[in-house]
Amino acid sequence: MSGETETIVIDGSQGEGGGQVLRTSLALAAVTGAPLRIVNIRSKRRQPGLMRQHLAAVRAAAEVSGATVRGDELRSLELEFIPGPITHGERAFRVGTAGSATLVFQTVVWPLLATPGRSLITFEGGTHNPMAPPFEFLQRVFLPHMRRLGLDISATLEQAGFFPAGGGRFVVELEGGYPPAPVELDERGEILSCEALAFVANLPSHIANRELVVVRRELNWAAEDCHAIELEGRGPGNALCLLVKAEGGAEVATGFGEKGLLAELVAERACAQLRKWLDADVPVGEHLADQLLIPMGLAAAEGNESVFLSTTPTLHAKTNAQIIARFLPVEFEFEPIDARRGWVRARPR
Ligand code: ATP
Repeated sequence: MSGETETIVIDGSQGEGGGQVLRTSLALAAVTGAPLRIVNIRSKRRQPGLMRQHLAAVRAAAEVSGATVRGDELRSLELEFIPGPITHGERAFRVGTAGSATLVFQTVVWPLLATPGRSLITFEGGTHNPMAPPFEFLQRVFLPHMRRLGLDISATLEQAGFFPAGGGRFVVELEGGYPPAPVELDERGEILSCEALAFVANLPSHIANRELVVVRRELNWAAEDCHAIELEGRGPGNALCLLVKAEGGAEVATGFGEKGLLAELVAERACAQLRKWLDADVPVGEHLADQLLIPMGLAAAEGNESVFLSTTPTLHAKTNAQIIARFLPVEFEFEPIDARRGWVRARPR
């Protein structure tokens, strides 16, 4: 990608006004070489500015791109990020709290995939956090889609980490330098497999078993597809992942246990989320929709159009599209079909 010299100024309060604006801006500043100034960081969040996990994302992006950074302090509302050349190698990025390590991954994966070289990266922190992709989503949904686009990337979970104890770890191996092929996901097709994984760490196993009773009742899944898994290591923690593989797509809907929240309610929420995807009969779910926009933008910047059919795009996805179009010569189009579904397209501008 050719370098730009003009600073791109991003207002972090636009649209969704959360951490995704920051992560996408960092990722694409590093990919394009464009200096970035971001103001009003996460200003629509209850605790605005850079939290520990965002700071970890800033530092990780700075390390892979040799960036000069100003404003990288806790609670900072403004950041300057002047990237240099991307380097690969063996590295470890630690959030330092139970903040999401998968969101740090989301920030550095694009500069590393966009440039030639091999990286082996350990991410430490939370692996199963509310408001972030749980590791199973990365492994069963995001990464298989990336491989379909011709990208060489895999990940292994070494230790699960839940809020508030953290201590999770996963390792990502990738070979960068291949631009993503265009996305074309227009049909979900037949369901090929369903699996429920109820994880508990340092909590009684009946929590997982009660969640699975709800899954079997609500979704009519077979007992042999429902697994209670007791994890070693730090806790307490509980997550219920509902995994579905279809001919043309995949989804992982997740319920996160919380102190004071009934296990049955955790399971009902996860089932309701999954049903939203199943009923819409689309290949792409709410979260994958916003995560596919960067590879689609990169493919469009190479002259290739992309399209997918998803559940109704969120403000999160639309905001992400706006940010991507600030860095890449591309445009996105959101075309609703009905109350549940819509097309998303990316093309060169
Ligand atoms: P903050 O400002 O606190 O950092 P944010 O706006 O960045 O929040 P979200 O909008 O909740 O955070 O989403 C962060 C990312 O995590 C998005 O890419 C979203 O798709 C993804 N994500 C959130 N929940 C899930 C989930 N259950 N499964 C998969 N991905 C998820």
